[in-house]
Amino acid sequence: MENSKKMRTWLDDFGLDHPLVIAGPCSAETEEQVLKIAHELKDTDVTVYRAGIWKPRTRPGMFEGVGAIGLDWLKKVKEETGLMTTTEVANKDHVKLALEADIDILWIGARTTVSPFIIQEIADALCGTDKIVLVKNPVNPDLALWMGGLERLYTADIKNLGVIHRGFSTYDKSKYRNTPEWQIAVEFQNNFPDIPLICDPSHIAGRRDLIFDLSQRALDLNFDGLMIETHWDPDNAWSDAKQQVTPKRLTEIMKDLKIRQKTTDEEGYQAELETYREQIDVTDQALLDALGKRMKIAASIGKIKKENNVAVLQNKRWSEILETMKIEGEQRGLSEEFISRIFKSIHQESINHQEKVING
Ligand code: PEP
Ligand code: MN
Repeated sequence: MENSKKMRTWLDDFGLDHPLVIAGPCSAETEEQVLKIAHELKDTDVTVYRAGIWKPRTRPGMFEGVGAIGLDWLKKVKEETGLMTTTEVANKDHVKLALEADIDILWIGARTTVSPFIIQEIADALCGTDKIVLVKNPVNPDLALWMGGLERLYTADIKNLGVIHRGFSTYDKSKYRNTPEWQIAVEFQNNFPDIPLICDPSHIAGRRDLIFDLSQRALDLNFDGLMIETHWDPDNAWSDAKQQVTPKRLTEIMKDLKIRQKTTDEEGYQAELETYREQIDVTDQALLDALGKRMKIAASIGKIKKENNVAVLQNKRWSEILETMKIEGEQRGLSEEFISRIFKSIHQESINHQEKVING
């Protein structure tokens, strides 16, 4: 995917005529497993082989990775298949060992990006490196924290940078393991148009049947590449078994994904329009989610009003909300008239939801 407005460095040098694909198992388990999967990915569109060696697990007692010995296996992958290699680093010791083992790309995991102290430690250990460093978004939906991570690395003179969008943890249940919150990735892209943006649909999905649609959406939003967890026997993987696909399935996914080419001016216009429309769709979804959430909260208020025998309409509170929203709306370039119309309508819907609880 080319985009004339972008200034590209390391990804350009790869000279690919398709989005970058990073694939390989969640975890390196055995030498045999690492090499078997790598050989199955060798003659595909995969450019970079991934395998986690030090695994950050949310709860203790799970498989925490094979450790430094896995670096030797990745070296063999490079020698035997010519694939580039990448693994996760989460502290300065990992960095030192990964650099010594000549791993091509280092990625920083979502649980690491949340900590400015650890990011700084890693940035200091990598200072001035030519290696490519990819920063996953933090587990919580905080754009500033993600940008801050990137800025710390850039300030340490690490110029070959990229980011990976892997979705965000929420307390609410959804069909995704980590909700995509696409608008955050889109905003990241708008802030840093020259930084390659890669989607990790595996960790967003948490289940393999959602990976294709997520990948297509990422490409439609102009992402530069995909990182997809791939295992020769996914169901028996030592970590993230449900979300991994076989090399065969990965090849099908790559074949079926539609990549928009931008060749002529006319097509360039269409492609740009498509991108904006995708962004609008993503924003509209977020609006709907927020409205749905608001109505659920209104229903909870209805419940306590019922228990305490209080009237649904509280005029004072409503006037305060409207006034605050008008001021906040103005700061965002939204007219008073628009805010007034939209919030009256939201308020009415909230009252309907409350009344349903009280009278129903
Ligand atoms: C991984 O890529 O296997 C991983 C642990 O990812 P994340 O940091 O996105 O959870
Ligand atoms: Mn994983």
